[in-house]
Amino acid sequence: MRSSESNNIRHDWTVKEVRALFDQPFNDLLFQAQTVHRAHFDPNEVQVSTLLSIKTGACPEDCKYCPQSGHYNTGLEKEKLLQVEKVLEKAKEAKAKGSSRFCMGAAWKHPSDKDMPYVVEMVKGVRNLGLETCMTLGMLTDEQAGQLAEAGLDYYNHNLDTSPDFYDKIITTRTYQDRLDTLQHVRDAGMKICSGGIIGMGEKANDRIGLLVQLANLPVQPESVPINMLVKVKGTPLENVEDVDPIEFIRCIAVARILMPQSHVRLSAGREDMSDEMQALAFMAGANSIFYGECLLTTPNPEAHKDMQLFKRLGLRPEQRIESSDDEQESLLNKAIQSEQNKHRFYDATTVAPSAAKH
Ligand code: SF4
Repeated sequence: MRSSESNNIRHDWTVKEVRALFDQPFNDLLFQAQTVHRAHFDPNEVQVSTLLSIKTGACPEDCKYCPQSGHYNTGLEKEKLLQVEKVLEKAKEAKAKGSSRFCMGAAWKHPSDKDMPYVVEMVKGVRNLGLETCMTLGMLTDEQAGQLAEAGLDYYNHNLDTSPDFYDKIITTRTYQDRLDTLQHVRDAGMKICSGGIIGMGEKANDRIGLLVQLANLPVQPESVPINMLVKVKGTPLENVEDVDPIEFIRCIAVARILMPQSHVRLSAGREDMSDEMQALAFMAGANSIFYGECLLTTPNPEAHKDMQLFKRLGLRPEQRIESSDDEQESLLNKAIQSEQNKHRFYDATTVAPSAAKH
C-alpha cells in the first residue's frame, strides 16, 4: 500500500453519490477506479490467499446461497473440525505455493467454548509458519474476539453479504445488526476485518449500492473486501436465480475500489465461472486479491496453475508479505506453476460435492 491510513478515506458516502458512480459510462468508471487504485497500490501486484475449510457443513444458519447450511439438502459431505496438525500441513503447502495469507473457515453459527482452544492453536501454528492468518467462524463474543487477537489472528472474515434491506430475503437466523456487532468486537480486539458481500442473489441495483455504502461507512473500512459472484449450488434456494450481468459485477468491483481506496478488494467466489478476460477487467477495475487453489471452502475455484498462468499473461505478481527480490518472486511463481502442473488436488474440500461460499 502506498499511502498512509488516513488519506482520502470517507465514511459519509450517500446512496445518491454511489449511484452516480455506478451510472457513469463504463470506461469513465474504470478509469476512475484504476486511477484510485494506482494512487494506493502497485497496480501489478495481487495479494494471494489460500482458504481451507476446517469444519464443513451442518451449519445451523439458513444463508440461502450456502450448501453448508443444515437447512438444505445439497449432498455435501460433512466434516468435523480438522486436527491442528492437518491444518498446519495444509498451511505449509499453501506457503510453498506462493500464498501470503492462510484463511480458515468453519461452518458454525459461532464457535463453542470447547472448540476455541483448537482454533487458537491453529492461529498460533499458522503464524509460526510466517503466514498471515484469517479465520471465519461465525459470530464472536467480545471475549472470543479477544482470545483470537491474543493468539495473533490478523484478520477475521465476517461478510455483510448484501444491503440491510435485502438481508432478510437471504438469511433469517441472524440479523444485520448481529453481523455489525461481531465486526465491532473484532475491531475492538484490534484485529483487521475482512468483510464484503455476494453479487447475483436476485438483489436489485439499490441493494448492491446499499452493501457498498455500509462497508465504506463502517467506522474503519475493512482492510479486505471480498466481492463474491454467487455460485449457484443445486439444492440451495438460490440455485435457479438469474445470472448477474458480468459488466454489472465489474462495476461493483470498480465502485468498491473507489469507495475503499486502501482496502484489498478481493475477487472471491465465482471466479470459476469467469473468463480470463472478465478477471482481467476485474483486476483493471481495482481488484487486487484472490483466493488461490481449486476450492473456495467447498465450491470450485480455478485450478491454481491456471491462476498463475493468467498472472504471467497479465504481468501480475503475487504480493509478498516479506519483501523479496524480483528474481525470487519470479522463481516462486515458476515453482508454483510447476508444482500445480504436477499435482491437481489441493484441498480436502475438493473431495466433497461442489458447494459453499464463505460466511
Ligand atoms: S455462509 Fe456461513 S453461516 Fe451461512 S450457512 Fe454457510 S457456513 Fe453457515
